Amino acid sequence: MSSETPRQAPVIIITGTPGTGKTTHAQLLAEESPVPLQHINVGEWVKEKSLYEAYDEEWQSYTVDEDKACLLVHHQCMFSDSGHCPSQLLDELEPVVSAGGVILDWHTSDVFPERWADLVVVLRCDHTQLWDRLEKRGYPLKKIQENNEAEIMEVVLDEARSSYASEIVIELKSEGTEDLESNVSRIVQWIEAWRRDRGIS
Ligand code: ADP
Repeated sequence: MSSETPRQAPVIIITGTPGTGKTTHAQLLAEESPVPLQHINVGEWVKEKSLYEAYDEEWQSYTVDEDKACLLVHHQCMFSDSGHCPSQLLDELEPVVSAGGVILDWHTSDVFPERWADLVVVLRCDHTQLWDRLEKRGYPLKKIQENNEAEIMEVVLDEARSSYASEIVIELKSEGTEDLESNVSRIVQWIEAWRRDRGIS
């Protein structure tokens, strides 16, 4: 972590294939956390800050402007070899995230600098249940298929494991209300331990 004042609250990335329950988990965690946590839905942030290029009707998705948002499907920054990513998205998030007390909710985690994350939660869901959830959401068939395949192939999990130290990446099942509640209570316990370890009361 680069900020001079140590964080009083952690930065938690909640990631997973679309539909696995990131936003649902982030909202409940923000309510139940023993310390204030700001929930940043990064996809919404991209829309609000106009970091997208266009809306793709066929895919029903925003096409993120790579120059601005640096949406790196690949693992390294294509715009700089200095290690600093000249991304408007990351630049705008940096001061917010550096202070700590943030939940970053996005379907990809490898765009964020490694130093940002104290914990990376990867949500997983059985692919047939995921299919139903995405169908209910009204996604076009090929978008459902693509996400379903990504979940089966563990794309988001692999991305998280290759971007962060293994001890901060946890994989959690999100297939029912019981999972949601037990996952959130496990993260709350982790926050309490994180604070205890740093002598924060
Ligand atoms: P994401 O943010 O990953 O796209 P959402 O949180 O929007 O996913 O959840 C997608 C849908 O799945 C919502 O209808 C939500 O109510 C449902 N859902 C999320 N998590 C669970 C869970 N653990 N068990 C059952 N349904 C869930």
